[in-house]
Amino acid sequence: MGTLFRIKLYTGNESQAQAGFHAAFERIGQLDGILSDYQPDSELNRVTRGSVNQPVPVSKDLFHVLSAAQNIAEETNGAFDVTLGPLTHLWRAARKQGSAPDAEALRTALDRCGFRKMHLNSARQSVAFDRGGMQLDVGGIAKGYAADEAITALRKAGISRALVAASGDLALSDAPPGKAGWSVGVDSLDSAGQPFTRVLVMANAAISTSGDTEQHLDAGGKRYSHIIDPKTGAGLTNRLTVTVMARNGIEADPAATAVSVLGRDKGLAFVEQKPGMAALLVDRSENPAVVTASRRFELLRSLD
Ligand code: ADP
Ligand code: MG
Repeated sequence: MGTLFRIKLYTGNESQAQAGFHAAFERIGQLDGILSDYQPDSELNRVTRGSVNQPVPVSKDLFHVLSAAQNIAEETNGAFDVTLGPLTHLWRAARKQGSAPDAEALRTALDRCGFRKMHLNSARQSVAFDRGGMQLDVGGIAKGYAADEAITALRKAGISRALVAASGDLALSDAPPGKAGWSVGVDSLDSAGQPFTRVLVMANAAISTSGDTEQHLDAGGKRYSHIIDPKTGAGLTNRLTVTVMARNGIEADPAATAVSVLGRDKGLAFVEQKPGMAALLVDRSENPAVVTASRRFELLRSLD
């Protein structure tokens, strides 16, 4: 999944801790083999090769991730879309080269994208695509799901107090001993190394951050995020950093990406109507940055 996973856990017994780490990292490795975009032979990369106009059965994990992705695609009118593979690959190459893709290449890629061109059949656990040349990219949801699954693997190993972090995607189970929750610092607003301006105390929840601070392309006076606006096919230029809290990672991760695409007003409207979801938006297109929180985020803070 192109990232480093870290796990922190509490248990009274060292051999149980070892077994827990082992089980959790094994589960993450298994999911990487299924969902990775970087491994040419991952199930994700194989499936688009064989299923044009023809349903292909897929694993339970891949089906689960694609179903969750299609649900949030529907809910956000396609702001979140895992069929953007042709575009995300084009922009990945552009970042390496240091210049934006040309209009022709963008049009070709855009034409091969669109969540309505992917069809899931839950009775058969299968997937089919309307046209050739489509590619999946679950980079906006897989890490959140893998973090959830690592927490589940730890619970099965008898460990209920754990934190799993896949860069900007965290999943948490019960609080550390003697604590009300895990302390999670959210966005220090500017330079790295500054203390976090907001610290939340959370347990049995997930938190994900999306934004252009880590991966982006500077070209033609614009900063393009690695998050794509499915309407234009271009990397976002809105300079928004979005943090979403939800019950689990498979909800929080894609929601942070989707809210980045939707922008402040539509993004907040989406968050407010989702049970248990909260968000903090930092808009860096203004100086100083403009910070907006959802109603539930303010409630979480008052519990600090
Ligand atoms: P990160 O990968 O930094 O944690 P995100 O969770 O926001 O950030 O996911 C961004 C990744 O999701 C991109 O690198 C790309 O693989 C994929 N992606 C880009 N734009 C979209 C989009 N509009 N919908 C779904 N996935 C996207
Ligand atoms: Mg995300």
